[in-house]
Amino acid sequence: MTSSPFVQDALELEDQIIAWRRDFHMHPELGFQEYRTAGIVANALREMGLEVMTGVGKTGVVATLGEGKPVIGIRADMDALPILEANEVEYASQEPGKMHACGHDSHTAMLLGVARMLTQMPDRPAGEIRFFFQPCEETEDEEGKSGATRMIEDGALEGLDHVIALHVSSDEPSGKIMINDEYISAAVDNFYATIIGKGTHAAHPDLGIDPIYLAAQVINALNGIRARRVNPIKPAVVTIGSIHGGSTENVIPDEVKITGTLRSADDETRELLWREVESALSVARALGGDYMLRIQKGCPSVYNDPEVAELIRETAREMFGEDAVIHRDISMGGEDFSYMTRKAPGAMFNLGAKLDNVNRPHHNPKFDLNESAFKVGAALLAETTVRLLKQGNAK
Ligand SMILES: [Zn+2]
Ligand SMILES: [Zn+2]
Repeated sequence: MTSSPFVQDALELEDQIIAWRRDFHMHPELGFQEYRTAGIVANALREMGLEVMTGVGKTGVVATLGEGKPVIGIRADMDALPILEANEVEYASQEPGKMHACGHDSHTAMLLGVARMLTQMPDRPAGEIRFFFQPCEETEDEEGKSGATRMIEDGALEGLDHVIALHVSSDEPSGKIMINDEYISAAVDNFYATIIGKGTHAAHPDLGIDPIYLAAQVINALNGIRARRVNPIKPAVVTIGSIHGGSTENVIPDEVKITGTLRSADDETRELLWREVESALSVARALGGDYMLRIQKGCPSVYNDPEVAELIRETAREMFGEDAVIHRDISMGGEDFSYMTRKAPGAMFNLGAKLDNVNRPHHNPKFDLNESAFKVGAALLAETTVRLLKQGNAK
């Protein structure tokens, strides 16, 4: 079935990849604090004979193999989450309140495996392979920038022709590949609104402007955006996550605060959501009150270049059989790999790694992975990289 040496190579490396993953899992570090992880990564890469740069994008690591064109990047993220692990496994987190609950430990371990395999490859095609070990995918620093943005600012992606990455999925069958063309994750923007009324005695609403009444109209308008304002075939979400107003039963308060999140795929819909949220809030003004609105713009959507996605799909089928690739719809979650795919055409695939029949969603204290999937992910990243090099050489 396979025409790739990496299936066997990854099988031989499997124990090492799992050992790396368990080590990272036991010692999780939050975004931009990945000092230990980055140190282990840098040492492992140096031992392989690679040229290594540390402190890229604050706590990131970049290693290069080979030189010239094309330049192919492979990215793994390294950060953990502020979650107290509930699993009782031997490799459980040893840091109370910190946990690799999104699988970034496995991404880092698999990319180390890829680096080892490509370094040892006897007749590696010409070109440069750049390994990105990225900090802080899950959150942002005080300036609102995540790890991918910081690495790009440090010039790590200069001259890059293509970039690829994977993300594990704890709820998809182990070893299966999910890869779609075009948008695969959402742009994530949050909004913070204050509806301003005029507080008064609850028995005399006519003497004030009731912001709770205004909020009720605004919520209606916000919930109407997806249904009435967005093209029905375009992905979009408007979710109100919190509403706070008032302190007791017989006082009409001065204001009500509403926060929420906006998710979209294409830029046009994204900008429409920003405008429509503003319009929905302006209902408060029409009814005699006022509002303040701040939209905090987060990462854009990941756009999978159809040619790169097709290469990954083909490669996965050749390596692991026709059934290896399964369909998965766009996720309305966010992924800051989007900044990288905006620098160079690329694609991310999902690697199924469902462990057992326990529900283990991402960002959950019970999250865990089927480690037998890692060899599949590592082999596919390595083979795709080699094919991208060959494609670049043929041009
Ligand atoms: Zn996550
Ligand atoms: Zn993640």
